[in-house]
Amino acid sequence: MVAMDGVQKWFGDLHVLQDINLHVTPGEVVVVIGPSGSGKSTLCRTINRLETIDEGTITVDGEKLPEEGKALAGLRADVGMVFQAFNLFAHKSILENVTLGPIKVRKKSKDEAEQRARELLARVGIEEQAGKYPAQLSGGQQQRVAIARALAMEPKVMLFDEPTSALDPEMIKEVLDVMVDLAQGGMTMVVVTHEMGFARTAANRVAFMADGQIVEENTPDEFFTNPQSDRAKDFLGKIL
Ligand code: ADP
Ligand code: MG
Repeated sequence: MVAMDGVQKWFGDLHVLQDINLHVTPGEVVVVIGPSGSGKSTLCRTINRLETIDEGTITVDGEKLPEEGKALAGLRADVGMVFQAFNLFAHKSILENVTLGPIKVRKKSKDEAEQRARELLARVGIEEQAGKYPAQLSGGQQQRVAIARALAMEPKVMLFDEPTSALDPEMIKEVLDVMVDLAQGGMTMVVVTHEMGFARTAANRVAFMADGQIVEENTPDEFFTNPQSDRAKDFLGKIL
C-alpha cells in the first residue's frame, strides 16, 4: 500500500531522511518510534507529499506520488493524516469539518456527506457534538473529530503523527481506543507514537528511527523485549 524505496531528503545540510526503505502492506499497522529530531514527522509528511523528496521513490497503492494539481488533491484524500495539533477549522461546526472534504474533493452530495459524517462521528463516539464548534470540545474529542474527518475521505492509508502527545493524560485512551478499533478493522496505518501500549496491542511492526535512518524493524514484542541496536536500547532505556 505504501512503498518507500531509497528515499533521501535534505534540509539544507541536514540529511534528514537517509536511504529510507519502508514497505507497508494493505491492512498493516506500522509504528514509527525514535528520538525527537530523528525524522519521524518528515517521513510521514513525505508520504502525502507535504514534503518533497530529493531521491528515491514513494508509491501509494502502486501509484507514484503526483507532483501537483488535481492528482495531488486526490493523493491527499487517499492518504489521511492526523497530526499532534488537531488542525480543525475553527469557524466551522464539527459536522462541517467532516463534510467539507467529501463535498469538495470527493464530489459527494451534501446529504450523502452528512449521513456518512454522522456515522463516522458515532464511530468515534461523539455524534452528539455534531452541531458544536471545535473550541467547545475537549482535546480528546477534537482529535477524534480529526480522525473522523480523515476517514470521511475514505483513505487507503492513515498517517498519525504523535496524535496523543498534545492531550491531557485522561484523554489519551479515548483517542487510542479509536485507533485500535481502526487497526482491528483492517485500516493500513503508519503511526508515529511513543505509546507502547498502542504499539503492543495494534502494531504488526515497529520501525525504530534515529538520525534520519530506520535503524531496526521488528515485531513489537521483539523490539521492546530484545532491541538489537545500541541506539534502540538507549532510547528504550530512557522511555520505559
Ligand atoms: P521528529 O518528528 O522525529 O522529531 P522531524 O522530522 O520533525 O523529527 O525533524 C527532523 C529534523 O529535521 C530535525 O532536526 C528538524 O529540526 C529538522 N527539520 C524539520 N522540518 C524542517 C524544515 N522545514 N526545515 C529545516 N529543518 C527541518
Ligand atoms: Mg515529529
